[in-house]
Amino acid sequence: MNQRQSDLKNNLESLKAKVQSLSSGNISIVAVSKYSQFDDIKSLYELGHRDFGENRIDDLEQKADLAKTHGLNDIRWHFIGRIQSNKIKRIVNVSNLHLIHSVSKLKHLEIINKESEKLDINTNVLLQVNLSNESQKDGFFNLDRNTINSAKGFKSLNVKGLMTMAENRSQCGDEVVKGTFDKCYQMYSQFFDHGILSMGMSGDFEIAIGSGSNMIRVGSILFK
Ligand SMILES: *Cc1c(COP(=O)(O)O)cnc(C)c1O
Repeated sequence: MNQRQSDLKNNLESLKAKVQSLSSGNISIVAVSKYSQFDDIKSLYELGHRDFGENRIDDLEQKADLAKTHGLNDIRWHFIGRIQSNKIKRIVNVSNLHLIHSVSKLKHLEIINKESEKLDINTNVLLQVNLSNESQKDGFFNLDRNTINSAKGFKSLNVKGLMTMAENRSQCGDEVVKGTFDKCYQMYSQFFDHGILSMGMSGDFEIAIGSGSNMIRVGSILFK
């Protein structure tokens, strides 16, 4: 094991220990590899890690192809970036795509459903919600029973839960961030049972776990 690999091993182990100390539940860790080279992904995979997240389709395709070539057959890819209608087909077609976190429009669900039907697969998705009212962020501003029922009605989709991003912690403070995560948890528990609640990044995952997150998306603290 070279120096880089042993750094990655330490980062992963200390993150897991931290996460375990914060919750008795099972919290999935998505390693956000958007700023990382394939070598780092491969190293974490060899340490037993399986879940990786990318926010740009070009990068995701490229890395998923490399993963396939190198025989990382059990890798699970997460798409966490902004979705554009004309790129949905490419996202759905990525090999070992596991979960799309960032669906913010019913129209996008419709297209994901249609592309999944063509491949005869079911695609797992989360609905992204925008509870911080920052207009530059994607996400449903509100989710009511009707929207949830429409979303759950698509035959080739599994709508698993919700995803959110909070305000910048250092600008807004812990209370505001916690308020946003709490709101998201409430919304989630209204509509989902044993689902996925994706919230928390390197800078705020402790708060997110305190509010009931069961999936965190972390990049910088793992790959630093
Ligand atoms: C980049 C990104 C992350 C990870 O951010 P870090 O601060 O590096 O942990 C998580 N979620 C989304 C949607 C991202 O774009």
